[in-house]
Amino acid sequence: MSNENKSIHEFDFNLICEYFSAIERQGPGSPEVTIKALSFIDNLTAESHIADLGCGTGGQTMIVAQNAPGIITGIDLFPLFIDLFNANSQKTGLNERVKGVVGSMDSLPFGEKELDLIWSEGAIYNIGFERGLNEWRKFLKTGGYLAVTEASWFTDERPEEIETFWKDAYPEIDTIPNKVGQMQKAGYIPVATFILPENCWTTNFYDLQALAQEAFLKKHAGNKTAEELVANERREAQLYQKYKAFYGYVFYIGKKV
Ligand code: SAH
Repeated sequence: MSNENKSIHEFDFNLICEYFSAIERQGPGSPEVTIKALSFIDNLTAESHIADLGCGTGGQTMIVAQNAPGIITGIDLFPLFIDLFNANSQKTGLNERVKGVVGSMDSLPFGEKELDLIWSEGAIYNIGFERGLNEWRKFLKTGGYLAVTEASWFTDERPEEIETFWKDAYPEIDTIPNKVGQMQKAGYIPVATFILPENCWTTNFYDLQALAQEAFLKKHAGNKTAEELVANERREAQLYQKYKAFYGYVFYIGKKV
């Protein structure tokens, strides 16, 4: 595998955490998009239990909490992100009902049919879309919702350069109809899908990274891993500019049958 296509998963996790903790969100998204996705979900009350899986530092979680009732548990593999998440919920005065816990999305600390809503922005790829849909379903009440964002192809055919990049980074990337089909097959009614607007990738993600990159490189001067990490993120941003007509993130919202 060439360095160019090296997936971020292969880098040192501590460095990755430090790099991404400098920005408010660790994946493409925006408050507007989070609120739009929430608009498809009904029946939430103050007693509802919501889980945000792969919550990162909680940028999107706090938006969910500010726009929906219920108790929210954020789950993330990395303690640094969870510390920042809990500091974030304190700062926004949401700590009574929004708590972050270190854990993994492949062994969740919830009981069967405990959850009213499973949220996951830019994170289900860690377990895989189909596996996540299938394994997480049991934790939802009947009539409960799942709302996730997932990298998707917009067209049936793509230029080879971007096809190769994604086949290496995340081979489960697929077209929107295929993802919707998987959702239906896993036992969810496909309630809504929509494509995240470009600013979720540019203004809210790659531009914020660009601002943080200089300081990061300065701090880790001479560290090959840090340099490679930044080079990869820059390459990803360039590829996005070049090929954004062919792929992006899509919100998939399903209701457990
Ligand atoms: N939802 C956040 C973060 C997205 S980045 C946002 O939209 O900003 C993906 C997140 O998944 C990271 O925070 C990463 O630490 C987390 N993650 C990776 N593997 C995980 C796993 N097995 N279980 C839980 N979280 C995981």
